Amino acid sequence: MLACAFGSLLLAIVVGLFIASMGTSVGKAMRERQFDQVEKYSSAEINRFSIYSLITRSTNDVNQVQTAFILGLMVAIRAPMMAALAIMKISSKNIGWVEVTVFCVLVMLACIGAILWFTFPRFKRIQWMNDDVNRITKEGLSGIHVVHAYNAEGYQEGKFKKANDELTGTHVSVTRAMAFLQPVMTTIMSMLGLAIYWLGAVIISEAEGLEERLIDFSDMIVFSSYAMQIIAAFMMLIIVFMILPRAMVAARRIDEVVSTQPTILDGDVVESPAGMEGRISFRNVSFRYPGAAQDALTDISFDVEKGETVAIIGSTGSGKSTLVKLIPRFYDVGSGEVVVDGVNVKDYRLDALHRKIGYVPQKAVMFQGTVASNVNYGDTEGERTEEDVRKAIEIAQGAEFVERMEGGYEGKVAEGGTNLSGGQKQRLSIARAVCRRPELYIFDDSFSALDYKTDRQLRSQLKKETAGVTTIIVAQRIGTIRDADKIVVLDEGRVAGIGKHEDLLRECEVYYQIARSQLSEEELVR
Ligand code: ADP
Ligand code: MG
Repeated sequence: MLACAFGSLLLAIVVGLFIASMGTSVGKAMRERQFDQVEKYSSAEINRFSIYSLITRSTNDVNQVQTAFILGLMVAIRAPMMAALAIMKISSKNIGWVEVTVFCVLVMLACIGAILWFTFPRFKRIQWMNDDVNRITKEGLSGIHVVHAYNAEGYQEGKFKKANDELTGTHVSVTRAMAFLQPVMTTIMSMLGLAIYWLGAVIISEAEGLEERLIDFSDMIVFSSYAMQIIAAFMMLIIVFMILPRAMVAARRIDEVVSTQPTILDGDVVESPAGMEGRISFRNVSFRYPGAAQDALTDISFDVEKGETVAIIGSTGSGKSTLVKLIPRFYDVGSGEVVVDGVNVKDYRLDALHRKIGYVPQKAVMFQGTVASNVNYGDTEGERTEEDVRKAIEIAQGAEFVERMEGGYEGKVAEGGTNLSGGQKQRLSIARAVCRRPELYIFDDSFSALDYKTDRQLRSQLKKETAGVTTIIVAQRIGTIRDADKIVVLDEGRVAGIGKHEDLLRECEVYYQIARSQLSEEELVR
């Protein structure tokens, strides 16, 4: 018996280790699958889930499934085996005993079913509420300066309290339902014991002779201990049932992420036809954001030749950023087509299209790391030397501030670039595009946080360095774009005029109005 006990201990340890490593690999695999899938998402899919939900899905939800998986393996295999063995041992015994045992098992299953039915939808809500709590916390923390400056702590607390109370309330109701489980099971177990002894007493009292009575008595003891084993097995299973509903909800949420196909899919063109490099055409392009009531762009057509600098100007909200986002295919057009290097952007393999483009977003994006890791970023990373990085930063007029930073080019950049000013981030963001050496630059209002002097120096340097490279500049300042080869004036998502500065001043009222607000009388001669 000692040897058996020791052997069983050893086995339990080995199995435990095995299950733990299996469970954690399952968790790892789920996180990886989700991350890979989410990276393929376009903004439409990300907005559908919301960033906060995607984060809880790859952390909290994965943990739920992982826990259920580990406990499930530990219990879900062992318990039914225990039950099956016990059932085999006693099924040939007195029929009355078997009947009560089966009846008790059925009652137990019914209880578990009822509780699952009650808790399942609530667990679903709990996961959603987790998303909410997450979102409100993140929103409040990332906007903490505004919260403080407007004394909005109370307001934020109120929002948080509401979400937190909802979450707590649902948790409480679920936990209450769960709390029933254990006592109900214990009661069933005791009742079963009682029933077996009751039946046993009748059987024994009806038997004749001491020997037969003794046999009946020992049968009863054996039966009741096996019956208890069956119930105990089910009790073990209850632990699984307590976490199963939540894990099922979590698994479903993970599955949603993994099985949602990105709307923007790869084409198969890798090489564009010779002789077409650096050309972009918009042909009758209309576009509407998912769920929006109006088109953000309507019937846009214009061409950009190789090496040209084309500027896009218009009041805020006129669709400038939207327009340039169609070139790297962050969104698909509603109708019409966007053609880069003679090929519709939808036909490119996305990495091939993106390889051509140096995109500088309106709001500079920085990643935690160093200055160099932020500038030398992406799939060209291995091909650029330290010298290239320095050069790119110099062109972007960033050398001065970077060299003053502690650590210089290896200086730390905090998450989101919070240790840099807006203008510094913009310059690094421009350096990133320069370092990529693309065929085509897109600057989405990338000079707005720079002072006039830096703006001018940067553009003249860029012009020297990027001669022959097609450039699209979105800008607010007439000064930034007046030398452009072509200016596209946008007004409420439509083209209000295309041409050179002087021509537009004469012919395009929208452009004239923008110019009048910025230029002196002499500069405005029509
Ligand atoms: P601009 O860059 O000229 O200031 P945008 O291109 O950013 O203008 O926006 C054009 C219009 O599209 C605006 O009316 C704006 O409300 C809308 N819009 C911009 N981004 C989104 C989005 N992600 N979802 C829905 N509507 C958007
Ligand atoms: Mg914009």
